[in-house]
Amino acid sequence: MNDLMQAAVLREPGDLINIRVPKPFCPPGGLLVRVRACALCATDAKMWRQGHRDLILPRILGHEVAGEIAAVDPGLSGFEVGQRVQVAPGLPCGRCRWCLRGAPNMCQDMRIIGFHCDGGLAQYLAVPAAGVQQGAVSLLPRGLSCDRGALAEPLACCLNAQELTRVGPGDRVAIFGAGPQGRLHVQVARLRGASLIILIETDPARLKAATTVGADLVLDPAQQQPVAAIRDYTHGQGVDAVFLACGSAAALDWGLGVLAKRGRLCLYSGMPKEGETLPVNLNRLHYLEASLLGAYGCTSRQNALALELIAQHRLRVDQEISHRLPLEEVTQGLEVVLNRTGLKVVIEFN
Ligand SMILES: [Zn+2]
Ligand SMILES: [Zn+2]
Repeated sequence: MNDLMQAAVLREPGDLINIRVPKPFCPPGGLLVRVRACALCATDAKMWRQGHRDLILPRILGHEVAGEIAAVDPGLSGFEVGQRVQVAPGLPCGRCRWCLRGAPNMCQDMRIIGFHCDGGLAQYLAVPAAGVQQGAVSLLPRGLSCDRGALAEPLACCLNAQELTRVGPGDRVAIFGAGPQGRLHVQVARLRGASLIILIETDPARLKAATTVGADLVLDPAQQQPVAAIRDYTHGQGVDAVFLACGSAAALDWGLGVLAKRGRLCLYSGMPKEGETLPVNLNRLHYLEASLLGAYGCTSRQNALALELIAQHRLRVDQEISHRLPLEEVTQGLEVVLNRTGLKVVIEFN
């Protein structure tokens, strides 16, 4: 009989239970990680409430993970028991057209920890050989705590989006949504040299918190019409890049309305089902030479870069963690995410 461990298992949407399950074995060619921190995000909350395109049930959730190596397969070199690591969730094949073209997050056989295989809301996480081979396991730089390290994954997703949107020096950027992801977008845009960063949020508590994240201008659509305000603030020229870090049709409209010539609008958050098809003025895109693009997930390269940026204090992630909870309170943590009553929730293990 294998040892048991505590885990948060989603059996069906709405049915998340905290139970003891068999502790996983170290996979051939892979690693076993003793989880120390697993952050929650809107995707976990969405899975809990309604499921997700890439989710296979039942499943131990959790894909923003850091911990220490508990076992290493004898056939695997380069890792040692006791090393502190952060685990990126993507397990791309490394061989398909998309992997070879530098977009492993679009891998045709993509498997994701916490989606297709068991995740980090458990005392132990098995990282299969494919993940190790494709760079999913990064050593935590000295001095970097597991809770901050776990935030490399959400940060890496922002890096992916801003690379695709080509945010560069002198760009004016508007970010819709001041949740954890929108706030990270502000910091990434700053790092990439944006000259003006505007953050737009409707929730009063989030608006209040938004003033500390470093945006040049924080807008409340209840007070100021965002398109008029942003146009006014940019001498009628608009912004070069827009990120929708909220699934809102109104934000899409506003975002399109403030795009400058050759502006790029990135659909960073998924839209709710009922907003999947929305009217867009295509002629406006045509005349402005503007573009509309999507971003989903991140690559191992971006994940390692995110970790380095956090370790080197190029971004501040401490202020993004509002709750640290034990696994027993994972449901309360997901409520915080869902009801937007905090920022990042990190489940901690001792
Ligand atoms: Zn996430
Ligand atoms: Zn692939």
